[in-house]
Amino acid sequence: MYETYFTQAISSLHTEGRYRTFIDIARHQGRFPSATWHKPDGSEAEVTVWCSNDYLGMGQHTAVTSAMAKALDLVGAGSGGTRNIAGTTIYHRELEEELAGLHHKEAALVFSSAYMANDATLSTLHKLIDGLVILSDELNHASMIEGIRRNGGAKEIFRHNDVADLESKLKELPLEAPKLIAFESLYSMDGDFAPMQEIVKLASQYNAMTYLDEVHAVGMYGPSGGGVAEQLDLCGKIDIINGTLAKAYGVQGGYIACNAQIADAVRSYAPGYIFTTSISPVIAAGATASVKHLKEDEWLRRKHLDNANKVKEQLLALNLPIVDHGSHIIPIHIGDPVKCKRISDMLLEEYGIYVQPINYPTVPRGTERLRLTPSPLHGTQQLTDLTSALDKLWAHCAINRLEATG
Ligand SMILES: *Cc1c(COP(=O)(O)O)cnc(C)c1O
Repeated sequence: MYETYFTQAISSLHTEGRYRTFIDIARHQGRFPSATWHKPDGSEAEVTVWCSNDYLGMGQHTAVTSAMAKALDLVGAGSGGTRNIAGTTIYHRELEEELAGLHHKEAALVFSSAYMANDATLSTLHKLIDGLVILSDELNHASMIEGIRRNGGAKEIFRHNDVADLESKLKELPLEAPKLIAFESLYSMDGDFAPMQEIVKLASQYNAMTYLDEVHAVGMYGPSGGGVAEQLDLCGKIDIINGTLAKAYGVQGGYIACNAQIADAVRSYAPGYIFTTSISPVIAAGATASVKHLKEDEWLRRKHLDNANKVKEQLLALNLPIVDHGSHIIPIHIGDPVKCKRISDMLLEEYGIYVQPINYPTVPRGTERLRLTPSPLHGTQQLTDLTSALDKLWAHCAINRLEATG
């Protein structure tokens, strides 16, 4: 009797062309960004991954893997408990200290993921601050949206990166009303940056707290990898910074960094912090090693941006419709879900290049795209292979190019 609920839900996804299939890949230690694709028919092929969020290849860096091996040897696999009951270790404490330092804050709290950190923290702020209104950028990540919605607290959505719209919404609220501006430093689907200076200025002018998701910037921007806020010397103006240990840091887990009081209150009131097993000490050890390493490795950060710039130059030389906001993320506009999926399939099957299509609801309809994330480890040959494959497919599928200039 219940079957039809599920089959109908799935068939509507098929009809809309947005049923998701997962590509099964095995990465190989020491051979980033290569991987083996395990095809549905049981056969295999070597592919180059161009869409990983392990932006710097830290998931295979020996500084990280050796710290994890050592921890595994010393304390075993899991943490054995929640943070409150037998699951707090020296590894968790070290990681939280390291992260607090990274963001020039007094404290940090580690969660099982940045999704969880956003969801748990934002929903708890509604409980901690009576009458809180959260002003949220319309393109904020699903995890922030879930957290903001959770307890039915008041919210206002402002237009993406639109400081005038944000100000008009702030103006409508009484100056003494508690407010929080929630936004991201670097939006992952377009690769554009928030107008952070203007936002923090508005926050102090209108007496609002600030909550910043730096998930796509930590490890990669700022002199020690502290993100865009560190790069702009604005850490002191952001009340709560959220980051992940799973993207540039290449491991797993998420966190917030903030002052000691906020951390203590969230720690005490957030169900998502308390009622779940703490991350494995092995993971914590790897994450700490990664954060420490990237505090120093300016070279890797520079090489990363150099490589991203090279990819952009070559794609622009072919008039491919990339969107360049100066970040390491390179969206290529296609604007049609079927073509987007088809190009991605052909890249994988015919050229051994893996770029996941990004379709609705991850991005608005009509803005379907491929999203490239070059790493410092993609070599010259891999880059040439990518650009020549895209050039051929653009011609083959008759997709628009940029108007030729000059
Ligand atoms: C990926 C992502 C998250 C979640 O991070 P995880 O650690 O993978 O859970 C949060 N915010 C943004 C903007 C993201 O892209």
